[in-house]
Amino acid sequence: MTHAIRIHAHGGAEQLRWDAIDVGEPGPGEVRLRQTACGLNYIDVYQRDGLYPAGDLPAVLGMEAAGTVEAVGEGVERFAVGDRVAYPMCQGGYAEARLIAADKLVALPETISDRQAAAVMLKGLTAQYLLFRSYPVQPGDSILVYAAAGGVGSLLCQWAKHLGATVIGCVGSAEKAELARANGCDHTILYRDQDIPARVREITGGAGVAAAYDSVGKATFMASLDSLRPFGVMVSYGNASGPVEPFSPAILAPKGSLYVTRPTLATHIATRALLDDGAAKLFGAISDGLLHIQINQTYALADTAQAHRDLEGRRTTGSTVLLADGS
Ligand code: NDP
Repeated sequence: MTHAIRIHAHGGAEQLRWDAIDVGEPGPGEVRLRQTACGLNYIDVYQRDGLYPAGDLPAVLGMEAAGTVEAVGEGVERFAVGDRVAYPMCQGGYAEARLIAADKLVALPETISDRQAAAVMLKGLTAQYLLFRSYPVQPGDSILVYAAAGGVGSLLCQWAKHLGATVIGCVGSAEKAELARANGCDHTILYRDQDIPARVREITGGAGVAAAYDSVGKATFMASLDSLRPFGVMVSYGNASGPVEPFSPAILAPKGSLYVTRPTLATHIATRALLDDGAAKLFGAISDGLLHIQINQTYALADTAQAHRDLEGRRTTGSTVLLADGS
C-alpha cells in the first residue's frame, strides 16, 4: 500500500495526516514516480493553512520531490522506466508514489542525489530567477536578503556573493548570523532587534541597497522599501510573517522612484524551455561548486507535521528533506 501526507481541512500542522492512497496507472502524457525524497517548502505551510489554494480536499500537499520513473503513460517519449527525475512546483509531492505530467520533470545528473535534488530544485530555481531576472544583480551591488540562513536564503546568498554583490543578510538569531556569513553574507542584521533601514544606511554609507529580496512579507515590507537606493527594486517573494498589507503606489515616489515586483517561480518555469534553462543553470552552479546544498534536517515522510512545526517555529536552517524511502 502506498501512503501520502494529506489534509482533509485547512489549519495547523495537526491537519497533516498519513493516509493510505491508491495511485493508479499513468494516463496519456503522465508517468508514475516512486519517490525517495521530498522537499519541504514554506509554500506548503501556506497551502496547509489556506492562505494559498490547495485544490479539492482531501489534498496531498508538497511541491517538490525526486525519485524513479516506474511506469510511463501513452505518448511519453522523454522518460523511460528506471530514469531518475525530480520536479519543483507541482502539488502532490508528499507521497511515496504519485502520477505526474512528464512535462513537469527534469532528468537528474548522476552527480546529484535524490536527497540533494529534493533539497534544491524549488529553492535553487527560485534563487536563480530572483538573481537573474527579478533584479539582475551586478558586480558591486549591495543587496538585502531576508532569512539568509533559510532554504532559499542560503542559496541566494551564496549565488549573489559569487556574482560580486555585497550581501546584507537579515537573520533571526546569532547562530543563524554565523551560517549566513558562511553563505557569503558580508554583513548580517539581527532584524528581530535591530532597525533594518538604519543598519542598511550605516552599512552602505547612506546609499541604500539596489534590491531587497524580501520573503518575510507583512513584518518587513516597509522596512525593505526604506532600505532601497533611488530606483531600487523591491522583490517581495514571500509571506513568512503574513501577507503584505495593501498600500498605495504613490508611496514609491518620495522614497526614490522605487520598483516593486511580486514574482512566483510558477511563472518563471511555466514552459518546458524555461524549466530546462533554469535547471541547466542550477545544476551547472552546483557542479561548478558555486552552491553548496545544505540538508540540515531530515524527517521520515510520515513525520511531516513535525517538520512543519519546526519550519514555522523558525527552528530549521538550510534545506529540509522528507524521506519517503523508509530510510
Ligand atoms: P525558510 O527556510 O527561509 O524558512 C522561513 C524563514 O523565514 C524562517 O526560518 C525565519 O528565518 C523567517 N521568518 C521571518 N518571520 C517569520 C515568521 N513570522 N514565521 C516563520 N518564519 C519567519 O523557508 P523557505 O526557504 O521554504 O522559503 C523562504 C521564503 O521564500 C518563504 O516566504 C517562501 O514563501 C518564499 N518562496 C517564494 C517563492 C516564489 O517564487 N515567490 C518560491 C520559494 C519560496 P529567521 O529566523 O532568520 O527570520
